[in-house]
Amino acid sequence: MNTRSNLSLVTGGSRGLGKNMAQRLARQGNDVIVTYLSKKEEAQAVAAEIEGMGRKAAALPLDVGDIAGLQTFVDELKQCLADKWDTDGFDILVNNAGIGATIPFEEATEEDFDRLLNIHFKGVYFLTQKTLPLIRDKGRIINVSSGTTRFCIPGYSIYAAMKGAIETFTQYLAKDLGPHGITVNVVAPGAVETDFNNARVRDNPELNAFIASQTTLGRTGQVDDIGGVVAFLASEEARWITGQRIEASGGMFL
Ligand code: NDP
Repeated sequence: MNTRSNLSLVTGGSRGLGKNMAQRLARQGNDVIVTYLSKKEEAQAVAAEIEGMGRKAAALPLDVGDIAGLQTFVDELKQCLADKWDTDGFDILVNNAGIGATIPFEEATEEDFDRLLNIHFKGVYFLTQKTLPLIRDKGRIINVSSGTTRFCIPGYSIYAAMKGAIETFTQYLAKDLGPHGITVNVVAPGAVETDFNNARVRDNPELNAFIASQTTLGRTGQVDDIGGVVAFLASEEARWITGQRIEASGGMFL
């Protein structure tokens, strides 16, 4: 493209993959609203950086796992769109926010299950439903899954099952939103060096080396390996891609 000047909402844009997605979307000419849970200053710094690139940006608080609180977030989002952009809609929703947790099957509790369910599936489902009236025709929805829906990592049964649900949801949503020209796709990263799951991939040299050895391209993932894929799916060139899962894992466990 990149002639479109669209407005994007990236959940979990304060750090890690979401921050990189926000930066790449901005570099592509999009305005960006990032959300944060605990890292307000980091999220505001991301927004300031994007404004420094000549785009408009904002940072809003969101706990995607707090289903009862989603409407409050949507109300704040509407206010932000009105105040800062003088509009009532946006174009690109990136459902990125999430947490990692290694929980052996035998030790998993209902509390663990519900936490991951709410953050990774129920929250994404209902946040998408509640923001859909604001998403303009020909918009984009990009969900974030994980390589763990294709290959199995011990202790990831709940997490990966929720990501599997997101992949199925992506296909159904693509079908439902086709008449509006809205594309819906899912990006599945392999192991990336972020704070995710207590920074296991980044800070554990043994695990890092093992993953690199099991990855066709010979290393672990970096945030910049992922953000551009999301930016591409948000671009005009990707207008004919919908209902697809794109794995960006460097060929992990091929
Ligand atoms: P990070 O831990 O680096 O960042 C997580 C982001 O999500 C932060 O912005 C955090 O906000 C936000 N967040 C966490 N919990 C919530 C919540 N309950 N509600 C709203 N926001 C929340 O993780 P990554 O960037 O690595 O992960 C991003 C996505 O990528 C996740 O969906 C993850 O499952 C997926 N993924 C990651 C992989 C990896 O290896 N890193 C591999 C495959 C998929 P704050 O900073 O304010 O706390």
